[in-house]
Amino acid sequence: MPEKCLKRHVTPGEPRTLYGIGVSPGIVVATAKVFRRQSSSAAWRRLTAKRIEPEVARFMTAVARAEQELKQLRGRIATDLGDALSIIDSHLLILKDRMLLDRTVEIIRGQAINAEWALATALGRIKKKFVALDDDYIRQRYQDVKYVADRLFTALSGRADGMLDSEEERTVVVGHDFAPEDILAMQGRGVLGFVTEKGGITSHAAIVARSLALPAIVGAKDATCICGTGDQVILDGFSGRLHVNPTPDQLQQYHEYDRQHRGYTRELAAYARLVSETRDGYRVRLSGNIEMVDESESVLEYGGEGIGLFRSEFDFFANKKLPDEQTLTRSYGRLLQRFAPQTVTIRTLDVGGDKFSARLPDSPFQLDLERNPALGLRSIRYSLREETLFIMQLRALLRASVKGRLRILLPMISSLSEVRAAKQLLARVREELERENIDYNGDVELGIMVEVPSAVVLADVLAREVDFFSIGTNDLIQYSLAIDRANQYVAPMYEPLHPAVLRMIRQTVDAAHDQGIEVSMCGEMAGDVVCAPVLLGLGLDELSMRASAIPHVRRMLRMSRYRQLVALADKVLAFGEAADVRNYLTTYLPAHYELDLIQP
Ligand code: PEP
Ligand code: MG
Repeated sequence: MPEKCLKRHVTPGEPRTLYGIGVSPGIVVATAKVFRRQSSSAAWRRLTAKRIEPEVARFMTAVARAEQELKQLRGRIATDLGDALSIIDSHLLILKDRMLLDRTVEIIRGQAINAEWALATALGRIKKKFVALDDDYIRQRYQDVKYVADRLFTALSGRADGMLDSEEERTVVVGHDFAPEDILAMQGRGVLGFVTEKGGITSHAAIVARSLALPAIVGAKDATCICGTGDQVILDGFSGRLHVNPTPDQLQQYHEYDRQHRGYTRELAAYARLVSETRDGYRVRLSGNIEMVDESESVLEYGGEGIGLFRSEFDFFANKKLPDEQTLTRSYGRLLQRFAPQTVTIRTLDVGGDKFSARLPDSPFQLDLERNPALGLRSIRYSLREETLFIMQLRALLRASVKGRLRILLPMISSLSEVRAAKQLLARVREELERENIDYNGDVELGIMVEVPSAVVLADVLAREVDFFSIGTNDLIQYSLAIDRANQYVAPMYEPLHPAVLRMIRQTVDAAHDQGIEVSMCGEMAGDVVCAPVLLGLGLDELSMRASAIPHVRRMLRMSRYRQLVALADKVLAFGEAADVRNYLTTYLPAHYELDLIQP
């Protein structure tokens, strides 16, 4: 137990409310199970010469056991949980990483000391290196190494992991921090939600919780001190509140809220099969965002009308080797075929920034060492520098285009010259394929992401060069408001409804329509029910979002009239403060969309 807990006086049974960040929605009333992982602090033990090799063997057995546990876990996870699978894969790679594995063995042998001490020393050195890099993203990745090392400490101790050794009914697990694997292991063991003291909205634990639809709160300070095993708790994954030993009134309010919410979710299921149009027949395409071809089924299940954004990065990082043209052609073809005749928008490689900033196999560019990666060699900038790789991807895209209806999307465009350079390469690829007698679809459309403020300012010029726009608000907000999208300290200032953002969306839509091209949105904002009616009123032709949000937005669209949506957009665009926009929507939305689920 951390020392600060001993100092805190909490009367058992006393009602308390803790505030964290709700990262995965849902309400759970259950019994708390407080989990404190065994300390990884290692005792020092000198080895005699003849004990050294058996100690190395003991360590390697622990590595094999940890590997086997991770592989078993991987095998239990549904293949549509792409994020979860890729996290486990990265942990399997770390397990074999020289910095951890070879270093530990070297220390056991070189210093004649026990495996736990050697592992702790190797981990300490890795931490020093990572922390020295002055890069928030890389510092966060140290957590992954630590998760893996903790797993090895547990394996060395010969203990079972302890957290989920019992299979109690209806528990909320409360802990300091959980590895993604811990959360995956909670499945099928009566765990209905979890709470951590650490973490933010984009931490791995949060991503996995959302993939599993497991209600969760992160960043609930002192939760393991205030909450005891056996306490009754209400976990509110919407607002991030954890009520410990709730009062009878709170319990009743939450039961009612939960009942209403479940009814609403059932009602929504019907919207997966309905047409995306307003009462007066105004149609908007609602499609899905995916990162792996396997996620297609869930987009179809929720009634997605095609793919508005396929993030193509995963294929490039899934293995130690780059994919070849054949593999990519097959993978894109499979996706296009699955959705034909609906449109599939595949974005070319968007490396750098907060995602996949590791070095690509065979690349001369060390993105992981960039001082300011969000402003560095990202996305299209990278593709234009690594022309061979870009051409390979364009060839694969065009070759796959015969299988369905493809749109190619260029990320992070900030100037006209980038669009023209990419178009020239595309034309070259077309000529090459013709020379080689390889079929491709001549109607493939080319579009750009509008996610950098300069692209908004130049939208009228860029619109003449391409077939469509797709607004990437995740980055547009970051670059226009100067708010790092992955930084928890400034997270409250990351505001999609900031009037500057709304005006940029309007400017982009108008520029596109003046030029007669379609404009879509694929940033997270598109699937946010608070923002969606405003976006519909701003005239976007397509909203692309995570699959589960599609029925919510379709329900709103079908309850609206076009004129009413336009009037709403005009109204909120006149505000000068995001808070005023939100306040206005707080009364508007319940009145127009029966979203009157009043939170306790
Ligand atoms: C965006 O920036 O809004 C977007 C959709 O791209 P990504 O989140 O992949 O950067
Ligand atoms: Mg982006």
